[in-house]
Amino acid sequence: MPKVDHYSVLGVGRDASADDVRSAYRKLARQYHPDVSAAADAAERFKEITQAYEVLSDPEKRQRYDMFGDGDLGGMAGFGIDDLFNTFFGGTRRRERGPVRGADLRLEVELDLEEAVTGAEKAVRVPRQETCERCHGGGAEPGAKTSTCGTCGGRGEVRQVQQSLFGRFVSVATCPRCGGSGKNVDQLCRDCRGEGRIHAEREVTVGFPPGIDDGQQIRVGGQGESGMRGGPPGDLYVLVRLREHALFRRDGDDLVHVLRVTPAQAALGDELKVPTIEGGEAPVKIPAGSQHGQSVRLRGKGIPRLHASGRGDEIVYLDVVVPRTLSKEERALYQKLKSLRPQPEKDRAEDDTILGKVRDAFGG
Ligand SMILES: [Zn+2]
Ligand SMILES: [Zn+2]
Repeated sequence: MPKVDHYSVLGVGRDASADDVRSAYRKLARQYHPDVSAAADAAERFKEITQAYEVLSDPEKRQRYDMFGDGDLGGMAGFGIDDLFNTFFGGTRRRERGPVRGADLRLEVELDLEEAVTGAEKAVRVPRQETCERCHGGGAEPGAKTSTCGTCGGRGEVRQVQQSLFGRFVSVATCPRCGGSGKNVDQLCRDCRGEGRIHAEREVTVGFPPGIDDGQQIRVGGQGESGMRGGPPGDLYVLVRLREHALFRRDGDDLVHVLRVTPAQAALGDELKVPTIEGGEAPVKIPAGSQHGQSVRLRGKGIPRLHASGRGDEIVYLDVVVPRTLSKEERALYQKLKSLRPQPEKDRAEDDTILGKVRDAFGG
């Protein structure tokens, strides 16, 4: 908020009396009232004037302002201009009478990873406000007699002259009798009780393209709430939440799978099978000398790229599992291995990097 001197905003001296402050405010507020003034900065000026008045009309705040300036008035931003505005001028918000677009709706849908791979169509239940079919949104019972509202003369709003502390002000308010429609009916619609809209729950089919990811949104045009007074409906936004999968974790377009192998399989290499997201199996070749946390990449077994061709990969991480218990025969063999190689090979830096990646991917 720019620092503006409250006294100069109101055009009064620092010795101005409470009466001086009040009459200065009254004059300026009338001049810059946004409903009256054509000046482009009227709203801004009006705010300044009102803020200045708020401070200078309160002996305690004024004293503080004289001593410290605006410095300790950090709370000013939150103070209710609207409240003050309404105190002086009454409610001035005019009711919209033209067509109004219906509100957008947002909801979440959970998908399985498989559905994100193949794409899916889902019926989604959408609770929403819809135009009442019985009265077509008009709120009148079919056959009811309609007459121009006598209270507002059909204008839908009433002007009230209010006597306030600072003089008479005209306020404009929605007609309390007809609710702004300008018309009265002798019978309200039985289904919507005159609201023109009813609560409904519809099934909307939503298509999710292959490759859709957690946190992405699908927009379904026109499936939000109905508009009012002939306005178009809003849109429906469906937020995708992917369920956790027991065998795979998604990493962009890639799928990550962890394959448990024995120390012997890792040392000698092996030909194994891993599950695929389609539900089948794919062969995977473990090279001899594989390290714990090392990965093998299966090209094109990942997730289809959204709105593009091709697929990501399935990345198979090796989890070398050391036996917790050994048979008698195994024990003898491990003892032999131990005596043949009492120390591990010298550590290689890249192993740590790969391990780090796996720990990141699995939070382990
Ligand atoms: Zn109705
Ligand atoms: Zn009326």
